[in-house]
Parts: sequence; structure tokens; C-alpha cells
Amino acid sequence: MIEVSKKCIGCSKCVPVCPFAAINMIDKMAVMNEACTLCGVCVQVCPVQAITITREEASARDLSGFKGVWVYVELSEAADKTHPKKIKQVTFELLSAGRRLADELGEDLCAIMLADKNHNYEKELGAYGADKVYMVEHDELFEYNTDIFTTVIVSLVTRHKPSVMLYGATIQGRDLAPRVASSLYVGLTADCTALAIKDGLLLQSRPAFGGNIMADILAPKSRPQMSTVRPNVMKMSEPVHGRSAVVVRESAKLDKSLRRVKVLERKIAHEGGAVKIDTARIVVSGGRGMKSKEKFKMLEELSKLLGGVVGASRAAVDLGFKEKAHQVGQSGTTVSPKLYLSFGISGAVQHIVGMKASDIIIAVNKDASAPIFNVAKYGIVGDVHEIVPKLIEALKKK
Ligand SMILES: Cc1cc2nc3c(=O)[nH]c(=O)nc-3n(C[C@H](O)[C@H](O)[C@H](O)COP(=O)(O)OP(=O)(O)OC[C@H]3O[C@@H](n4cnc5c(N)ncnc54)[C@H](O)[C@@H]3O)c2cc1C
Repeated sequence: MIEVSKKCIGCSKCVPVCPFAAINMIDKMAVMNEACTLCGVCVQVCPVQAITITREEASARDLSGFKGVWVYVELSEAADKTHPKKIKQVTFELLSAGRRLADELGEDLCAIMLADKNHNYEKELGAYGADKVYMVEHDELFEYNTDIFTTVIVSLVTRHKPSVMLYGATIQGRDLAPRVASSLYVGLTADCTALAIKDGLLLQSRPAFGGNIMADILAPKSRPQMSTVRPNVMKMSEPVHGRSAVVVRESAKLDKSLRRVKVLERKIAHEGGAVKIDTARIVVSGGRGMKSKEKFKMLEELSKLLGGVVGASRAAVDLGFKEKAHQVGQSGTTVSPKLYLSFGISGAVQHIVGMKASDIIIAVNKDASAPIFNVAKYGIVGDVHEIVPKLIEALKKK
């Protein structure tokens, strides 16, 4: 519920900032109309704190009208407006997971797209399973901005009431999802590693207590049930080309004054020097068992011969064998290459969560009971210092 108290001085500052034209000045008092989505922008600008929003207790909310699985579409950066932005892969991964959830619930899978212009995105989004695309096109949505994107998403959620909403656990998703959750007074489970439906609710699994246990989280009293999922965690389904999603155009009146952060300069990093471990098709990883920085270098040679990228366990990073950017796992990068080779890595749960989605895992460890063998398709019990040089020699001969 939104209320304007007698403290209102009739300054009208709330009127232009309301994205939904929901405020009229009547007798020098702000009066909200039915277009109000409780987004809270007016509360922020009121100089005399005359506007208050009271949220219902979660337990008192009527959850019956909440339907549909929503996926937030994340776009790549573009140098300027003439270059169409690309949809990031994590969106397709979430749509693939969302499709399973929506089918189980018997509800629609919807993609939520905020952009300055639609470049036929519904074709790609439909191919990965979206039934509908809620499309908000506006010049102000050219680049991501926390305040503006939160306002638009909160309004869409308030209007359409989805039951589940998924975001990538990316820099953008990690900024946006908590802001939306707090604006809507709902919970958020970050960095989920598995999603399923249990008794009609979203079962959100994620590592807890330093990764030593897996926690299963349900949100029975609030909607939407919201989760973030890291890139490379959910398997991407095969796209069905020719299957397009229905576009539902939504309007939003966005004013520059909503934007509290100004971008002064844009610098796009060139991929040349950066480690692209998250998108590599082959990852050759080493752990403490490699023994030293010098010996770890063998993996660089092996990786080069295979056309891959070097990964490392946290122990290997802590020992200085490799830089942090190469760390695979819960506090490093999640990878899902076609081939993951593991040398001298025990397979602690915090490492496994970062690589178990790889297509083929081959592990070498001198301890036959090492947990890495539980996720490996092929395992060699042996000494890495004998096996790696032999592999290098064999590949060189080829
Ligand atoms: C909050 C938190 C977050 C974490 N995040 C991550 C993360 O992102 N990534 C990560 O990797 N870890 C992470 N860890 C640490 C994790 O718990 C383990 O400590 C770490 O993965 C162990 O690395 P390792 O397997 O290289 O070393 P160890 O566990 O010491 O294993 C070394 C393995 O090498 C084998 N070995 C030794 N010599 C040889 C040889 N000559 N030939 C063959 N095999 C040999 C041994 O049998 C052993 O299995 C995290 C921990 C916490 C608490």
C-alpha cells in the first residue's frame, strides 16, 4: 500500500520521476492512481519523506495468481548503438533450465528483455524454449543501469506476477537480482547449482558452509521465487531453429533523473590477453599434486598441444603455481568444456561444483580413492609426473 501523508508540500518532484505516470497533483497534494506499481522511485525523491509504502507480510500474501517462469535476458556490451548487442550464453542456459521447470509446472517460460532496440531477439530466445518475450524498448535501456532496470523489472513483476524468476550470477545479475528482491520484499538464492520443482515450489540447491554441504532452499511464502545461477552451471539444450517466441511489448516512461549513476567513460576490454577459461573447449587443470610452479608448467605445454586453456585448483593457486584467474571452482570460475583434464587434484566439493558440468572428465591421481574419480568418465591411478610427460611426448609425435 502507498500513502501520502500531510507532510506533502506539493513540490511535484515525484510526478516526473514516476515511470508509470501514476501520480497526479490534486489540491497541491500528490495522489497515486491505479497505474502505481509500488516501485518506490517517488519515495526516494520526496524531500520531506511524505510518501510511504507498506508491504504485506509474506505470510499474508495471496500467491494464487503468480504463474510463469521468467528468465532475465542479459546482453553483451556494445561499443555504440549502431552495433546490435548479443544475448549472453548464460541466458540460453537459464532458458534451457527454465523450460524444464515450466513444463513441470505446466506454465509459460518467458524471457524478460530490456533494450534500446529489439533485433529480432525473439527468434533466438524462442529457439531455446521461451514461449513469450516481455520486451521493453527504450533509449534509456541502451546500457545497464541498476536504478532504471530495477524499476522496470519491479513494475513488470507487479503487473504480471511470475512465480519463478532466474538471473545469471554475472556481474550484472548479481547487481540486479538483489535490488529487485529487496524492492519486492522477497528472498533470493544466489549461485544455485541445481533447480527443480518439489510440490509445486522451486527447489533451489546451492553449496553452504564453505561448500561442505548442499543446502536445498524453498520459498513457500513469497513470489516470485528468485535465483541466480552462474554461467556454465546449467546445460544448454539444443536450439530448435524456427521456433520463435511471442513478443509482448511493454511500455515504461523512463526519465533520466532515475539514473543515479552516470557513466563517464566506456572501455571495452579486448579479449587478446584475458584468460577465457569459462568459454574454453578444453581445460587442462592441475592441483597440489603437481608439486611446484616449475612442474606445473608441464600442463601449459600439454594444454598448448591440445589447444586448451590451463586451469588450477585453489590449492595450486594459493601455492602460487598459477594465477587466480585460472582457478576453477566455487570461489573461482565455473567451467563446462568438452574435455576437462585433472592432474593431481583431489576433487574437493568446492572444486567439483566448478567443473562437473564438463562433457568428459579425465582424472589422474595417485590415490585410487580420491573423490575426483566419482565425477570422472576416465580415471588413471598413477603419478602425474610420469603420465604428463608421456602424454606430451605422444601428442608431439602425432
Ligand atoms: C569457501 C571455500 C571455497 C573454495 N573454493 C575453491 C575453488 O573455487 N576451487 C578449488 O579448487 N578449491 C576451493 N576450495 C578449496 C578446496 O576445499 C580444496 O582445499 C582444494 O580444492 C584442494 O586442492 P587440490 O585438490 O589441488 O589439493 P589436495 O586436496 O591437497 O589434493 C592433492 C591431490 O593430489 C594427489 N597427488 C599428490 N601427488 C600426486 C602425484 N605425484 N600424482 C598424482 N596425484 C598426486 C593427491 O592424492 C591428492 O588427491 C575452497 C574451500 C573453501 C572453504
